[in-house]
Formats: sequence, C-alpha cells, structure tokens
Amino acid sequence: MKWIVVGAGSAGCVAARRLHDAGHCVVLIEAGPAFEPGGVPGPIDGDDSFAALGVAERTYADLLARRTAHGPETRYLRGRGVGGSSAVNAMVALRGDPARYRSWGWDDVDEAWDRTLIPAERPGRAELGRIDRLLLAADAAAESTPLTRRNGRRITSAEAYLWPIGLEVTDRFEMLTQLTVDRVSFDTAGAATGIVLSNGDVVAADAVVLAAGAIHTPTILQRSGVERAGTGLRDHPAAGLLLQLTDVEANRLDLDARGLATAAMIKRGPIQVLSLNHLGSSAPADMAMLLVALMVPTGDGGTVRITSSDPAVPPAVDFDLLRHPDDLHRLACGVADVLEMLHHPPFAGAVEAIYIDDHGTTADVFEADLDAIAEWLSRRGADYVHASSSCASIIDGAGGVDGHEGLFICDASAFPDIPDVNTHLPTTMLAERLTVQWPGVAGSEG
Ligand SMILES: Cc1cc2nc3c(=O)[nH]c(=O)nc-3n(C[C@H](O)[C@H](O)[C@H](O)COP(=O)(O)OP(=O)(O)OC[C@H]3O[C@@H](n4cnc5c(N)ncnc54)[C@H](O)[C@@H]3O)c2cc1C
Repeated sequence: MKWIVVGAGSAGCVAARRLHDAGHCVVLIEAGPAFEPGGVPGPIDGDDSFAALGVAERTYADLLARRTAHGPETRYLRGRGVGGSSAVNAMVALRGDPARYRSWGWDDVDEAWDRTLIPAERPGRAELGRIDRLLLAADAAAESTPLTRRNGRRITSAEAYLWPIGLEVTDRFEMLTQLTVDRVSFDTAGAATGIVLSNGDVVAADAVVLAAGAIHTPTILQRSGVERAGTGLRDHPAAGLLLQLTDVEANRLDLDARGLATAAMIKRGPIQVLSLNHLGSSAPADMAMLLVALMVPTGDGGTVRITSSDPAVPPAVDFDLLRHPDDLHRLACGVADVLEMLHHPPFAGAVEAIYIDDHGTTADVFEADLDAIAEWLSRRGADYVHASSSCASIIDGAGGVDGHEGLFICDASAFPDIPDVNTHLPTTMLAERLTVQWPGVAGSEG
C-alpha cells in the first residue's frame, strides 16, 4: 500500500517508520525545512532549547492564540520542519500516570512504551543551572528532569525514527520538505485518495495519515470539508513567575552556572513546577523563571478554526483555559505555594524580585491573596505549549476519521484528554499504539 504521512514531527516520524517497517511505501510531507544526519543545526543539537527556537523557519512565526477568555491573543509556539516540535522543545521526558491512560480505556500502553525509540537521560550535576540548584535545595520533592537526550545530545524524533530508514537503500520511502499540505482528497464514498498541496499539486495514495499537530491537523481537515474537527483543544494552564536573581548565594550553590535551559522540577499533586535557568541569550542575564502548571485541567477545551481557505493564513486558536472554577482555584493555589517557597531560603537569599509580567509588576500586588492570584490568572494565564485533543471527537480507537476510510490521525490532536505530563513522549507513545492498528501494520517489528 502507498501511504502519505503529513507532518514530520513527534508523531509523523513514528508513523512513517512503522509503516515503512511493515513493508508499505511511504511519502512523508513536511511544511518546514529538512536536516540530515551530520547536518543538524547547532542550536538544535546543543544544550539551549531557547536557541533551538531561534533557528530560521523552525517555528510558525505568525501563529497566535488566546489562552483565557479575558486574555490577549499572543504568539503560540509550534515546531516546524523535520523533527517538528521535538527539534525545538525543552526536552522534558516524562511518561505520565499509567492510571490516566487506563481511564481512557488504553490497555496497550506498556507495549507501546516498549516500542518507543526516544531516549531519556537525566542531566549531569555540572549541567544544572541556578534555578535547578535552588529548587533541588529548597524542596525534597524536587528532582532533576529526564531529557530526550543521549550522551548529552538532543535526540529528535527524526533522528530516532527516520534516520535508520535513510541509512537503508529503499525505494519505499520519500520525504518531501518545504511543502504545505492544503487538504485531503476523497472519492465519492468519502474514502481518502491522497492530498492536495498548497501549490495545487496532487499526490495520490491508498491511505493518508495526518500528523501535523494539534493546531494544524484540524485546519487541514476543515479545508477538506471535515467541519467537526478543531473542538476540545487543550493545553496545561500555566503561570510564569519571573525571577530577578542576586548573587548573594552564588558561592554555596554555584549560581553562576548557566546550565541547561531547564533541568529540574517538582511534581506536587496536580501541579508541576519547572525551572527555567535562563530565558535565552537575548534576555537579561539575571532573569530566570519558575513555571507553575496545572497538569490535569478539566473543562470542555477550546477551538481551532480556519479563517481562510488559504493554508498560508494562520487559524484562530482559542484555548479557553481556566474557565472551570476548579482549574482556576487549583492553579492559584499552586502559584501561592511557589510564592511561599520563594520567600524562604535558599530562594529568599537569591531572588531580588519576583515579577508577574514583563512590565515590572511584582508579585507583591497579590498581598498573598488567593482571589487576587486567581483574578490575575484569568486575565494573564499562560499555556505550556502542549496543545492536544483537537480531533479526539471525530476519530475511532485506531485514529481513523469517522466516515472517511483510509484517513488516520496519530498526533497530539488524537488524545481524548490531555496527558498529565509534558506531551512529547506521550505523543510518541500514542503514535506507536495507533500505527499498529492500521491495515497491514499489526505485528511489524520495531
Ligand atoms: C517550544 C516548545 C517546547 C516544548 N517543550 C516540551 C518538553 O520539554 N517536553 C515535552 O514532552 N513536550 C514539550 N513540548 C510539546 C511537544 O513537543 C509536542 O506536544 C509534540 O512534539 C507534538 O507532536 P506532534 O506530532 O503532535 O506535532 P509536531 O511535533 O509539532 O509536528 C507537526 C509537524 O507537522 C508539520 N505541519 C503542520 N502543518 C502542515 C501542513 N499543512 N503540511 C505539511 N506539514 C505540516 C509541522 O511543520 C510540524 O513539523 C514543547 C513544544 C514546544 C512548541
């Protein structure tokens, strides 16, 4: 069979590899640029994930999103190019609570994890940055974060899944880059017959996999006439506390160490607290951040809608985070707990000021009042760049799109609800468990 896979990110690389392993012909089509073995751009390969985000054409520069009902529309980050978001993300490598997956009726998760090819490695002590060190000293529950690296190098989904195919001599795999898929084409019965590119070219196939991510997969479906795609969009609601550091404690904790962008976190019930040791090379050197996120939000989710039939025009994205009062309350409590921690050693001696925005407003405005924190969150709540679930309502258990034979989805848009951890490894696992359910794939070896 000939398959088209749209999008070469976390999920698309898995789908292309597993379909190829099973003996199918695969055409992988990616909107952004390629990279080859030996030619990975330095910032993607390196230890600064902010630098990876700065590589030309590696993100969607015009993509905006609204996080909360009262919040502004601001830029939303998505990876672009071979490797997708796995090439620019912060590399946090967590699997998530097995009970949450079981609650979705997924009984094949262990086998899918066994097939997953993305490595996870804890950073070395010398790689810890100043916020990592403070967090580890402040709270016994803090731990260094496993990262998607091997021997200190980022391993993208492309390197883990595609490069082994490229090393074989094969006429069954083709990768087309810098080409945007406009829509899926169907026969009169609604079965997928291939795709149409934004330049008008048609590529025919026996089956099509959409793996363009939770923002772009529903836009391709909407342009294809599948109007019901794009609801139930989720992310982890979050709040960034900007920390201006002093160097008072520098000697004891070695706070001069720049370290990785992030390498430590705390998990406290539904709350994850992530260190950001620096904010990229263009940000002031004395600024850092603690990101506080609610990992099990409730609510119906938001929407992705195309605003034009032109695939170059970005969609309207509205996450509608924190609408549910429980979500607002739990995240506000998480922020209050972190502020309390910041007022005690070792943070107290190392943090000059805590800002809640980039206009110089300090956390003192809350006066330790939970309602004031909640009010701020309802206006300025952030996301965690973990878009998911925007196509869950239109697919069956194998990722097949209702009413459209030969059309499958296996990216983060297919989660029935958001995982309780950072979404790259769970998306990889999701793609592993869906691909084996497709025609002619079951039983293929990894
Ligand atoms: C800045 C950032 C930091 C993150 N940090 C972490 C982290 O530390 N840990 C973690 O677990 N998760 C993290 N995530 C989230 C995680 O990386 C994503 O959830 C995951 O990679 C999503 O995988 P995906 O396959 O659904 O989409 P993606 O990996 O985003 O892949 C989608 C691909 O489809 C392509 N595409 C889109 N539209 C089209 C089209 N029309 N035609 C052709 N191709 C198209 C895109 O260019 C892209 O390459 C982060 C994400 C971002 C953006």
